[in-house]
Amino acid sequence: MKLTSAVMLGLASLSSGAAAAAEVSPLLVIHGGAGVERKDFSAAEERAARAALTEALRQGHQALAAGKPALDAVTAAITVLENDPTFNAGRGAVFTHDGKNELDSSLMDGATLRAGAVAGVHTVKNPILLARAVMEHSPHVMMVGQGAEMFAAEQKIELVDPSYFRTEKRWEQLQRALKEEAAGQAHVDLETAKHFGTVGAVALDSQGKLAAGTSTGGMTNKRYGRVGDSPIIGAGTYATGNCAVSGTGWGEFYIRLAAAHEICARMQYLKETPAQAGEEVIVKRVPALGGDGGAIVLSADGTAATPFNTEGMYRGWIGADGVPHVAIFADEKLKMPGE
Ligand code: ASP
Repeated sequence: MKLTSAVMLGLASLSSGAAAAAEVSPLLVIHGGAGVERKDFSAAEERAARAALTEALRQGHQALAAGKPALDAVTAAITVLENDPTFNAGRGAVFTHDGKNELDSSLMDGATLRAGAVAGVHTVKNPILLARAVMEHSPHVMMVGQGAEMFAAEQKIELVDPSYFRTEKRWEQLQRALKEEAAGQAHVDLETAKHFGTVGAVALDSQGKLAAGTSTGGMTNKRYGRVGDSPIIGAGTYATGNCAVSGTGWGEFYIRLAAAHEICARMQYLKETPAQAGEEVIVKRVPALGGDGGAIVLSADGTAATPFNTEGMYRGWIGADGVPHVAIFADEKLKMPGE
């Protein structure tokens, strides 16, 4: 697939400006968050997670197979994952210190470098749709809190009662984190930080264009209006004409490294592959600072990687043949396109 896509892209660029660009083999890669551990969930929960990842891949693939832009595939896949309570995004988001759900999301169109982001919203059913509306229907890139919610209402984006996002499992995670904190541990310690589950998608469409998106509830027990990397363009999400990245993990470290942008920059300037750039930033540099997490990385030549430094990361991909490939744990080999 790598060679075919690269050849096709070459043709597309030669004929740029010509009416009919050659078609590229479309590809979608998703994640449902790093930090997942076997002991954290039951067989039934594992089945539900795999089914949700498969459904997200199918929905995104449908958009790509219909010739729609990469942005549509990203939005479709993330909407499925936001609606599924398994993941820390939309319904099933983690709780803040005050027992609320505050959601962050962003997306980016690689072809135009347009981007949209929202942070700290608590009544928007699908934050990824609001991020997209910010990009498409406002002159801004990022909106937060009440203003973002006013804009959502104006844009007729679906709003829900904050209780919609609540799940018992996340509530119990907060209670555990509060107990650890009361026992004298740091308020974002490793035990708490393990509960990631952010969702993201990167896509390459039949025109050879890339897009990336990310959505999250952030980190359990976050406070003071904390915003992580997920809605920050360049930290949790980035896309160009060559590269698309969505990250998941301990957001503070991704912000400090401008991780998503850093991966794209390495691919562009150092000519690294997604696997090489992902390995350097996610497997070496994030942990060297004390963080952990993962990312999905896609190149315009149709190669992809899913680097992570935790015990597992919900992840999957689907190519032109429409067959979904899904994995969760580190010891499950997921052969990526172009590998
Ligand atoms: N990166 C997210 C944050 O720090 C958390 C996650 O990936 O689950 O908000």
